[in-house]
Amino acid sequence: MNSAIIRPIKLTNSLTGKKEPLETIQPGKLTMYSCGPTVYSFIHIGNLRAGLVADMFHRYFKRVGYDVTFVRNYTDVDDKIIKRANEEKISSEAVAQKYTQEAEKDFTAAGIQDPTVKPTVTTHIPEIIQLIERIIKNGKAYVVDGEVLFAINKFPGYGKLSGKNIEELQAGARVGVNEKKQNPLDFSLWKPAKPGEPSWESPWGKGRPGWHIECSAMSSRWLGDQIDVHHGGEDLSFPHHENEIAQSEGASGKAPFVKYWLHHAFITMSQTKMSKSLGNVFLARDFLTQFSGEFARYFALSVHYRSPIDFSDDTIDNTLISLQRIYEAKQKAAEFAQGGASGTPAQAWTDFIAACQKAREQIDEAFANDFNSAEALAALYTLIRDFNRTATAAAGAAGAAQGARELVAIIEKDIGEILGVGLNEPAAALKDLGRIRAARPVAGGVEKPQAAEIEKLLAERVAARQAKDFARGDQIRKDLDARGIVIKDGPSGTTWSYK
Ligand SMILES: [Zn+2]
Ligand SMILES: [Zn+2]
Repeated sequence: MNSAIIRPIKLTNSLTGKKEPLETIQPGKLTMYSCGPTVYSFIHIGNLRAGLVADMFHRYFKRVGYDVTFVRNYTDVDDKIIKRANEEKISSEAVAQKYTQEAEKDFTAAGIQDPTVKPTVTTHIPEIIQLIERIIKNGKAYVVDGEVLFAINKFPGYGKLSGKNIEELQAGARVGVNEKKQNPLDFSLWKPAKPGEPSWESPWGKGRPGWHIECSAMSSRWLGDQIDVHHGGEDLSFPHHENEIAQSEGASGKAPFVKYWLHHAFITMSQTKMSKSLGNVFLARDFLTQFSGEFARYFALSVHYRSPIDFSDDTIDNTLISLQRIYEAKQKAAEFAQGGASGTPAQAWTDFIAACQKAREQIDEAFANDFNSAEALAALYTLIRDFNRTATAAAGAAGAAQGARELVAIIEKDIGEILGVGLNEPAAALKDLGRIRAARPVAGGVEKPQAAEIEKLLAERVAARQAKDFARGDQIRKDLDARGIVIKDGPSGTTWSYK
């Protein structure tokens, strides 16, 4: 592929702390690794954000023209998996297999496109052993009692990603220092077998890999010794990614192991800003069931990936309102796209079509600037306001159909192909958003009453009116209104709905 046609992109590289233009090792090709979940349980919403951020990168790199090879692993050997296996009295393999399948279901429900390869640790033991042998041969690891430890004193670049002060860390680690270690920060590449734990034969005796070595081994197996992009949560920067650099560069002698390190921020949980119903939604499965896959995508991707997301009622309600705006506009645009007069477009629509072109450029600029999805969406909302204004002023005029089609294309292609939102049929999407809205417990910060309480108050209102106590009847209606309930009196009785 001709690399000249690929759109220039800037990425914030954690290794340098700077926003840099993306230049891949091989023109036109892009290799990317993302640290996947440890499969000891259902994945939580933090894992879902990680999967969605990587998916946005993946979709975008492909869209701008790269031939992308994307690897996302499953960690299927780990202390937490062994603990769960012992609790459930089943094998570690059974635990890992079960929760890998469950994670796959959640990723699929969230519309996450499959990576090129989804390797697991247990199917890469020979590669892991070979990599450790290379590190030992280079004098950067040593063996003590069946354990292989990485010697950080032999790797001068240790700390370059996280910017940690290594001397300070060493001083802190001296408490309870492991006598076997040459440096208190030396970490395990291979651990000797313990009874009741999965283990494999190795040149150092039976044992299992340490956590960090797997990503170095799987990355080099599928992508080569040096890669373009490595992604993970900001919590992985130290020690996991720092150790990956030490291992990979220690084995290959080539630097950098990764050209661009991309880290996304956490989802923060502030119990005070969360209604009771949100307090239980910690698992991706619960989030996807209570809301939807598209809802999860908007929730996770409408905020810049390097900014934390506050998991609160405000953020949830904001997601709901935003998706509603997009689909209401799309629905109106679909109607307009069918009709309108023919002939030379009216001035209002000519202006709108020009605004579409401008919005398209702004959206393109925003994504190319370190995936600034928030700015891209802001450009879309400006355009939607413009569309609504034009639709009121010049409904049915010539040019309406073309303007409407442009708006739909921007929603579905310029935004939708990258974020994976706005792609559904509007009537069905709005119906599903209505379902989510009806279940929301709060309105304006006040806990929404549930159906049983509303029915009871409405019965009380009927009784008050029959007793000619109209003041009381009115008061009930006003109170419910303040709590987010609309009451409609009709010939066949009173109906109510959530605002
Ligand atoms: Zn990693
Ligand atoms: Zn990893």
